[in-house]
Amino acid sequence: MTAPNQSGWRPAMHEGVKENSYSRETATGNRGLMLEEALIFEIGTNETTGVDLPEPQAGADRLGGLGRSEPIGLPGLSEPETIRHYTRLSRQNYAIDLGLFPLGSCTMKHNPRLNEKVARMPGFADIHPLQPVDTVRGALEVINELAHWLIALTGMHGVAMTPKAGAHGELCGILCIRAALEARGDPRAVILVPESAHGTNPATAAFAGYRVENIPATSEGRVDLEALTARLGPDVAGVMITNPNTCGLFERDMKAISDAVHAAGGYVYCDGANFNAIVGRVRPGDLGIDAMHINLHKTFSTPHGGGGPGSGPVVLSEALSPFGPLPYTARTKDGVVHLVEEEHADEFAREHFGKPLQSFGRMSAFHGQMGMFTRALTYILSHGADGLRQASGDAVLNANYVLRSLDDVLDAPFGDSGPCMHEALFSDKGFAGGLTTLDLAKGMIDEGFHPMTMYFPLVVHGAMLIEPTETESKAGLDELIRALRSLAERARSGDESLKGAPYFAPRHRLDETLAARKPVLAWHGPATPGGTPTLSEQGGS
Ligand SMILES: *Cc1c(COP(=O)(O)O)cnc(C)c1O
Repeated sequence: MTAPNQSGWRPAMHEGVKENSYSRETATGNRGLMLEEALIFEIGTNETTGVDLPEPQAGADRLGGLGRSEPIGLPGLSEPETIRHYTRLSRQNYAIDLGLFPLGSCTMKHNPRLNEKVARMPGFADIHPLQPVDTVRGALEVINELAHWLIALTGMHGVAMTPKAGAHGELCGILCIRAALEARGDPRAVILVPESAHGTNPATAAFAGYRVENIPATSEGRVDLEALTARLGPDVAGVMITNPNTCGLFERDMKAISDAVHAAGGYVYCDGANFNAIVGRVRPGDLGIDAMHINLHKTFSTPHGGGGPGSGPVVLSEALSPFGPLPYTARTKDGVVHLVEEEHADEFAREHFGKPLQSFGRMSAFHGQMGMFTRALTYILSHGADGLRQASGDAVLNANYVLRSLDDVLDAPFGDSGPCMHEALFSDKGFAGGLTTLDLAKGMIDEGFHPMTMYFPLVVHGAMLIEPTETESKAGLDELIRALRSLAERARSGDESLKGAPYFAPRHRLDETLAARKPVLAWHGPATPGGTPTLSEQGGS
């Protein structure tokens, strides 16, 4: 553990210190500005209070005997104590504004400040969904204008704006497919999903009541067209295909897949979460797709994770558009954008589109994530069509730069399948000494990076999926590559110090399986020997 390894790396702070106990090197447990922070329940007690309230004056009890009889058990802290607690915790977060976020399949893009400025304008930020429609015409224009862009960029016919995340959008698309099949009296039971699919795809199909069947991949990492066509038949409602797929590759046979599915009477759902790689270059409508969700929080730069809610509009083909959810916006001949709601929806559809309404229902109470619509439209308008096209090109260039800069030290399973799209896929093949993808990922924390996506896609053993996005500079990518190269060399040489990484973090190796399987989410008081584990015991080092 103490000898410098081949790459010259040495866990200096760790020398001579018992594993995972070096937080005791200082009296406080703090190390410089990396502050130890206990749980709020451990800092405050319910015997103290941060505010001085006068004793309530005796008066008639109007609670009908429902008044609390026992203490509520909240820690009493003053305002500065509370603010310090949460500020300290917030500094332990990694964020897109702090450094590169290489998570593949998540598209962690920079969130331009212009988006935030526009979203905070009172005319957008201070309105309420229950306001009279006449007082929110501008907001409806924003929704409709964004809808127009999404339709134009995808070459589709309509768009459902209300879904609130990618997975929510998938459900919306599958419900449209089900409604269309039911309308023609042809309920079908099976949805085909490639084995490399994002986990939300089979989950969505199953949630909507379908039986999910896997389609195998070719050795190239793409959907096996022959196996897919062989399985098509009168029981197949549709397919769900991610394009570009989760191996970071473009599905070249997409049009042939769509034609075969349509010929067999099914519909094609495309998981469009990876649209960032092809915006301005390919229109999914031209590939025969019937429904595709777009993650505004990925491709169109609205914040996600801790930074904000998702938003997953679903673009629809002409065949599926009539079945989309309510409410939706539509501009009538007089130039006014309407919010088409339940009471008038059928009348409206007949009058303006000459068709009865066949909507499957609603996806959300109101019209979707307004704050995200404002941000996404700002992003789109500030880039323009040419700027969006350049963003997808730069994203793909960055991913290929990472792929080709590291494929001599990291195994690239589909490195021979041509250039990748927006994400580079590696595996742990060639690591020595029992070291795994997990060890390399933990080492990234010591190097100051958020780990990449690990063990996904499932079709690749020890997968590492890296998506650098278009806004990272060459210098930033070179820094990431330098860190990954050093870690890869350590992993290949069997450097066992990697097993203990991260060393330079508030917590080290946690029992992640236990934390996921048996999360302790409530405070049960301080630990007693052999008693209920407390949060601090489970999450502590
Ligand atoms: C992110 C993602 C999803 C799910 O989107 P959420 O907004 O997280 O629900 C689905 N498919 C793929 C390929 C994704 O990357």
